[in-house]
Amino acid sequence: MTVSHWQRAEQQERKVDFLVVGAGLAGCSAAYFAKELHKREVVITEARDVALGASGRNAGFMISGLDTYYHRAIEEYGHDVAREVWGMSLLSFSHWRSFIDSGPIDVPLDDCGSLLLAETQAEAQELELAARALDADKIDIEYYSRDPLQRGYHAAIEQPLDAGVQPYLLVKSIMAQCGAELIANNEMYRLEQEGDCVRVYTRKFIFKAQYVLLCTNAFSPLIDPYFIGKVAPTRAQCLVTEPIDHVPVPYCGYSDYGYMYYRSTFDGRFLLGGGRQHFREDEGDTTEDRVNPKVQAYLDDYLRKYFPDVKAPVAHRWSGIMGFSCDGLPLVGTLPGRPRIGFAVGFTGHGLALAGATVERAVDKLITGRHAGAVDASRLS
Ligand SMILES: Cc1cc2nc3c(=O)[nH]c(=O)nc-3n(C[C@H](O)[C@H](O)[C@H](O)COP(=O)(O)OP(=O)(O)OC[C@H]3O[C@@H](n4cnc5c(N)ncnc54)[C@H](O)[C@@H]3O)c2cc1C
Repeated sequence: MTVSHWQRAEQQERKVDFLVVGAGLAGCSAAYFAKELHKREVVITEARDVALGASGRNAGFMISGLDTYYHRAIEEYGHDVAREVWGMSLLSFSHWRSFIDSGPIDVPLDDCGSLLLAETQAEAQELELAARALDADKIDIEYYSRDPLQRGYHAAIEQPLDAGVQPYLLVKSIMAQCGAELIANNEMYRLEQEGDCVRVYTRKFIFKAQYVLLCTNAFSPLIDPYFIGKVAPTRAQCLVTEPIDHVPVPYCGYSDYGYMYYRSTFDGRFLLGGGRQHFREDEGDTTEDRVNPKVQAYLDDYLRKYFPDVKAPVAHRWSGIMGFSCDGLPLVGTLPGRPRIGFAVGFTGHGLALAGATVERAVDKLITGRHAGAVDASRLS
């Protein structure tokens, strides 16, 4: 984005203490921690409005852990990191629950647990290894060597502490409680640190901020070249049916290594998402909010194959853009040579699992310089 000479006449200079860019799940909860724990005056600038990005479009699965099976996470990141990140999801859930309990908005939450299902025998073997690793770390799960749903899956892991939430209302509720001023329809297009102050150019204001935290997830590579190659926009798509008279999966259900996901909505419909793994060229590296008929046709076929009892027609289809990090873990840090500009991005399809604990660390790192542990971006260097 740019601003023309004519439009510039309307821009006002404004001093702020702590400026958050992006009013999604990450930005609104970061604002809360900056205000509550660090006593900062916080303003959020948002290109559109609250929760219009991935945060208001996701499936609402609060599923512990990362986007890979637990034994694979141990292999890839090491045991300490895998355990630490698992703990971060439990902490994030407790943050979401506190917001839901104390907020002014009624946010539907279903303590239904999650069910991770295997679509093939090979995936079933992976699930068994994951279950053993989870058991060894005394994480509360149940392993099924058969399909508990009797729908043609091969094995399953149930995680009883997981839940399904109405994600859009959750973010609205956090926004209402975070104590920050929101400036919507105010895209940021440039930022630069000058001494201890950051100049942030937005459509309506030129801010002079003490601290800036970028919570811009998939859009981060458009903001600063630092993020190119570190955060990749990745499109995800869902559909929801007309109301049905039964609950096909009484859990947050997911399968095919997490690529497919399904649940009942709070208004009695069936939600199905995923399919992008078969159309990577179309769905990767795009910030375009558009449904792809090929992905939607795949979802239709999947619905017919695994849920033939769901006969109601599809009522609505949508897409959203996720920010995938280059190594699968969220990224927390400050921009090189610009220690007053922090970031908490790259939730890799797991913002509801990890954003709460991650942004808490991001705010702390920006203000105190403390290392952010497993999610600290210094690991990339
Ligand atoms: C279809 C779909 C299903 C998903 N399902 C799940 C799930 O079940 N469970 C789960 O944990 N995760 C899921 N995710 C991922 C989850 O939604 C994200 O991890 C999470 O919402 C990330 O939150 P965020 O605040 O970082 O990003 P966003 O919600 O995308 O917020 C970023 C905000 O920054 C704003 N912004 C960007 N650039 C600028 C700028 N220059 N100036 C001002 N503002 C700017 C954007 O407008 C946006 O509002 C899903 C995602 C999608 C799309």
